[in-house]
Amino acid sequence: MNTSEILRTLSDSFGVAGFETEVQEKIKELIEPYVDDIKVDRLGNLIARRRGKGKMRLLLDAHMDEVGFIVKYIEESGYLRFAPLGGWDNRIIPAQRVTILLRSGEKICGVIGTAPPHILDDKERTKVIPIDEMFIDVGATSRKEIRDIGIHIGDPLVIHYPFTELTTGYVTGKAFDDRAGCAVLIEVARNIAKVSLDIDLVFAFVIGEEVGLRGARTAAYQIDPDIALAIEGTIGADMPGIPEARQPVRLGKGPAITVADRSIIVNPRMVKALERVAEEAMIPYQYKLPTYGGTDAGAIHLTKAGVISGVVSVPCRYIHSPISILRLNDLEHTIHFVTEFVGKCHRLLNPV
Ligand SMILES: [Zn+2]
Repeated sequence: MNTSEILRTLSDSFGVAGFETEVQEKIKELIEPYVDDIKVDRLGNLIARRRGKGKMRLLLDAHMDEVGFIVKYIEESGYLRFAPLGGWDNRIIPAQRVTILLRSGEKICGVIGTAPPHILDDKERTKVIPIDEMFIDVGATSRKEIRDIGIHIGDPLVIHYPFTELTTGYVTGKAFDDRAGCAVLIEVARNIAKVSLDIDLVFAFVIGEEVGLRGARTAAYQIDPDIALAIEGTIGADMPGIPEARQPVRLGKGPAITVADRSIIVNPRMVKALERVAEEAMIPYQYKLPTYGGTDAGAIHLTKAGVISGVVSVPCRYIHSPISILRLNDLEHTIHFVTEFVGKCHRLLNPV
């Protein structure tokens, strides 16, 4: 599988926050050949290790979960009410097709219905509809029929557009935040599979980032790393009408180094080490403009006595929507960058 095919597999997998099993199993299959051991912890984090000679331990983190929804009420008429899991922009939710994951493991299709514009007055037609007023239509006519289909309160769902290659090296799909990061970790493991390491390396694919950095917290506690790098798919905003000063990252400019976001102010030693690695390997890079968004590094750096933590991101446009776009070249550069970091972090950050 090449990098684009790995991203396709991960992007098309189901993994709404709290329901990451399918994507976790796919990742396990893909990374298993390149690591010494692998386990799934109580909460569902997938933790894979490469043992090295040195004492220093590096944690590479990516989150498996994606933003989605959960069924919260079943109307007598057979319509479903739903609540968000993770941050959504209400403007983009109506008139989408959804995949609902049933308890049986079966997936069914529904649509997020909207009132016909023909019957709305001018004010109703221009307002952003609150999620509370939206509903899902699976083509059922009663609560009993919903029960017969096997839909329960608490079933997760996602808006799903299949992964598609665009022209000139761009791809589109859902959940690039953070399946792009997961793809980076898998490819880094493959790149270094035959290299002997001077650090202990742990890959953590964690749950529940989108609902509050949940899996990263317990993963970091048990892994107890000296240093950590969270790999993200982050806010590309190079688009018409947005001034450059408000574009957190831009596509085509390479991996983005975070200096500060809402969850962490990255230790300047880590920022310098990352700059050094990129410059030595002649990898293009950019800075993610402070202080947009939050990442797993926010939870990881506060673990136990503290962990020197950084964030490197693949620029992605339209994250937290089902139609993210990234440039494969940026993804390849990020894989190269993190691979180089694994080889050099011992020299650059020891003792931490
Ligand atoms: Zn993310």
